[in-house]
Amino acid sequence: MKDLIQNNLVCNYVAGTWKEGDNGQTIDVEDPATEQVICQCALASDESLDLALIGARKSFESGVLKDMKPAMRAKLMANIATEIRRLVDEGGKLLCQESGKTLDDAKAEFIEAADYFDYYGGLADKIEGKSIPLGPDYVDYTILEPYGISAQIIPWNFPVSLAARSLAPALAAGNSVIIKSPELDPLGIASLGLALDRANVPKGVVSILNGIGGDLGAKLVASKEIDQIVFTGSVPTGQAILRSAANEVVPSLMELGGKSAAIVYPDADIEEVIDSVKWGIFFNAGQVCSAMSRLIVCEERYDEVLDRCVNLAESLTIDHGINNPDLTPIISANQLSDIESKITQAKSEGAEIATGGSSIDCPGHFMAPTILSNVKPNSRVAQEEIFGPVLCLIPFADNEEAIKIANNTEFGLVAGVFTKNLSLAHQAAAKLKAGQVFVNEWYAGGMATPFGGIGKSGFGREKGVEALYNYVRTKNIAIKL
Ligand code: NAD
Repeated sequence: MKDLIQNNLVCNYVAGTWKEGDNGQTIDVEDPATEQVICQCALASDESLDLALIGARKSFESGVLKDMKPAMRAKLMANIATEIRRLVDEGGKLLCQESGKTLDDAKAEFIEAADYFDYYGGLADKIEGKSIPLGPDYVDYTILEPYGISAQIIPWNFPVSLAARSLAPALAAGNSVIIKSPELDPLGIASLGLALDRANVPKGVVSILNGIGGDLGAKLVASKEIDQIVFTGSVPTGQAILRSAANEVVPSLMELGGKSAAIVYPDADIEEVIDSVKWGIFFNAGQVCSAMSRLIVCEERYDEVLDRCVNLAESLTIDHGINNPDLTPIISANQLSDIESKITQAKSEGAEIATGGSSIDCPGHFMAPTILSNVKPNSRVAQEEIFGPVLCLIPFADNEEAIKIANNTEFGLVAGVFTKNLSLAHQAAAKLKAGQVFVNEWYAGGMATPFGGIGKSGFGREKGVEALYNYVRTKNIAIKL
């Protein structure tokens, strides 16, 4: 992308200006399918972070966005959506290369990002307070105000759409935003800066900084200047950020990991189950927070489901994302070796490898699609997030046991139920500890459906109208007439 990569370097978008790191530090951005370096990305310096914070504060206090007529803010959001759509082809190619995901999925991220701006743009003039009756001598009402500076830390698995998921509602509500992009694939997110620029977003309202999590990310969330933290990523990082947020008592939103389970009841439509397995655990090479990582199957259908899962896994095409295969590489060598060590652990715990179980001997960080059978519900492999194309199959004897196994982790992001019996589905959904329950289709739902976890999967909700209220706080005005 000509405007983004200059002299093989991608810069930071700092308060409306493209800047190299003042310290000259860069990181290589690698193609996980080939291990070739695509280009360098500048690491934002401390000075750039300061400039981003100053720009965000100035723009917020000036009221350039928050005091803009809401209908005009909605138009600005629509303009951003239009500019993001113009990036779909070029940006998608870059995202495909740096993240390893398929070209179609990478393009879909840009489309989804644009859709977030349209969705929340449509709500920008509907952020309404209420009036509270206190009797004839008083008038009392609430207004919903933006927080100020929203610091947003984004992971590498869906960098463009997750950035838009938080940025769009924050801007619709009138906040200024500083994004810390993921160091493994910062290019797609950086290209959002082009869209913001071209849509004439006022300078300072958004900065996009690339940096190492424990360095720049930690400095951003520790800053006394920020008014809110939005974090999407792993549990240990979330815990570190919450400890830091506690120092300045900064309100935080945590979208963390998962170990989500689907229950297959005896009357389930097995075609629907297998479709959902394909999408649920092999999409994005299983690097999805809400991946279907455990399949809890009734004993009477267990062998049939296991056979079908193995056939599915062995039929998947595996290739560079540019060729739109079924399965793409893992983002990095470190992440791949983490997955392999979890498989070794699983074997020592008695899990059987029905297929896969190791990396693929070729250039790039490819992991064979893996089905683990007879996994013990309390074993580590059934408890810890793997973040790869690895499905754990666990048999159950009765409904009570199925729910108990599904709820038996520290996480609670999503869950699934496969049955034709809607009464059973509703009853199971009520008992499952998860922020969202899918019935008969993994990932049913969409932009309008609130998403978020319970337990160690985090708190607060993204997506839907509900998410908008994460980005405002209530002020009450009580008047004695
Ligand atoms: P990660 O926690 O390693 O990193 C996430 C982001 O945090 C990166 O930008 C990283 O640079 C930054 N970071 C790291 N240390 C930091 C620190 N001390 N202070 C501030 N920022 C810091 O997670 P990851 O490996 O990039 O992403 C995978 C994880 O994200 C998985 O656990 C996955 O389940 C989770 N995730 C959750 C959701 C959700 O919506 N619930 C969505 C996507 C991913």
